[in-house]
Amino acid sequence: MMKKVLFTFLTTVACFIVAAQQKVSDPLPVRGFCIEAPRTSGIDAFVKFINEELVPRNVNTLILRVDFNYQFESHPELRDTDALSKADVKKLVAACKSGRIQLIPQINLLGHQSWASTTSALLRVYPQLDETPHVKMPSKYEWPNADGLYCKSYCPLHPEVHPIVFALVDEITDAFESPAFHAGMDEVFYLGDDKCPRCSGRDKAELFAGEVRVIRDHLAGRNRKLWIWGDRLLDGKTTGLGMWEASFNNTHRAIDLIPKDVVICDWHYERPDKTAVYFAMKGLNVITCPWRSPAVAEVQVSDMYAFRRDATPETKDNYQGIMQTVWSDANSFLEGFYGKKKDKDQGENTAWNCFRKTFARIGEGK
Ligand SMILES: [Zn+2]
Repeated sequence: MMKKVLFTFLTTVACFIVAAQQKVSDPLPVRGFCIEAPRTSGIDAFVKFINEELVPRNVNTLILRVDFNYQFESHPELRDTDALSKADVKKLVAACKSGRIQLIPQINLLGHQSWASTTSALLRVYPQLDETPHVKMPSKYEWPNADGLYCKSYCPLHPEVHPIVFALVDEITDAFESPAFHAGMDEVFYLGDDKCPRCSGRDKAELFAGEVRVIRDHLAGRNRKLWIWGDRLLDGKTTGLGMWEASFNNTHRAIDLIPKDVVICDWHYERPDKTAVYFAMKGLNVITCPWRSPAVAEVQVSDMYAFRRDATPETKDNYQGIMQTVWSDANSFLEGFYGKKKDKDQGENTAWNCFRKTFARIGEGK
């Protein structure tokens, strides 16, 4: 009997603590999670993860990086071989709807059109859209290399590019029933190339901002918001943030040229750099993004609460929240999360450990 009473008491206390955590007085508007979209074979496991792990943690935004992992009807020539069907996507949509999670698809636009020595579908099928066709893909990729090749870009001024990519964007946002689309646009190293007959000699900040605006306007015409990564809008040299999480190719002035309703996903994985303040004071909505360092993520969450608390009324809601980013495929993440594999090299600093800590800290409130 005493055991039962004790059990009931402890359960009540536990429920009270959970309820208290969930009732943060000034919750972050965006409590997000971003990962590569699962493959067809992993859909059911991922739906279970949404129901059992994202929903109880009050995650309210899920970005899935789709790229060509969908059976596009507008451009079937760009599909991956084992791409998601519409029925697969509808399972994700249903789970997110019932869990009150906004589901947003991502296709990398502009940059990230190749990875290591592999060219992605767009430039493989339409090589004329390549910003740097003279840069040949290596059989064995190494960084650094003489071409400065990190990832290929498409040429933003090629007249054929937008009809193709916008068909994909519309189709995937329709399938996801999403009010927003994430266009990636991070780490664009190839832009305004000297050999491109359309872009050479142009201002790279204007080229970048022009592409953001074209995509934003297309989405706005369908009542949808554009989300992008923030790194090209930060000055890598002056800030010391470097060429990856900030720009070394003079795109950073684009921060003053892009429309103010573009949502900025500001990623910093090694240090909790306080660049959210910079974006917010430019009038942009910003979401800070950790990855796999719980120590960095916990500071980032505390900072986000502090920024909202200390901001002027005019900028407070520019601080939109936190989104954890996972840079592996969904299956690998779930294996780690459920303890089926250990990441020996990273110790405590794993994406799944960071996921648990980040959302526990968000639940504590300011
Ligand atoms: Zn070009």
